[in-house]
Amino acid sequence: MVPPGRECRDRKRRVRRRVGAVRARTAVERAACPACGTLSARVHSRYVRRLADWAVGGRPVLIELQVRRFRCGERTCEQATFAAQVDGLTFRHGRRSTGLQAVLERVAVMLAGRAGARLSQTLTAAVSRSTLLRLIRRLPEPETTTPRVSSGWTISPCARDTTTARS
Ligand SMILES: [Zn+2]
Repeated sequence: MVPPGRECRDRKRRVRRRVGAVRARTAVERAACPACGTLSARVHSRYVRRLADWAVGGRPVLIELQVRRFRCGERTCEQATFAAQVDGLTFRHGRRSTGLQAVLERVAVMLAGRAGARLSQTLTAAVSRSTLLRLIRRLPEPETTTPRVSSGWTISPCARDTTTARS
């Protein structure tokens, strides 16, 4: 027999874990091939992508987005088919919305590791510390500038060691 207080707590946990689902469909009629840039309106297939998005009312949100897969019309292109992306919402191979991904990337850069993972739980977008480290590795290298000395001399960054560099 389960004590009444515990049953109530268990129910609250289940409600908290529930995910708000949003079903949507793209209205994209044509899309550019990511490999060659050719526009295509030839639909190959449709499928449903599941994207994690911002939490609403403390509940995680899952977007079930029906997207179209197009055929590339360029014969020489190696990309036979490709999925249409929605600006501001999806990116290639992404399982999160663009906005949620950007926030998690900032959390990863600022806190990384365990602290970042704890903050992501508070934001109701729980990810592991390993995921945060992967996000940092995938970020583009920051742009470096070469400092200039007022006398006209230029200080260049350290030369790359070609003996240990990977090709
Ligand atoms: Zn192509």
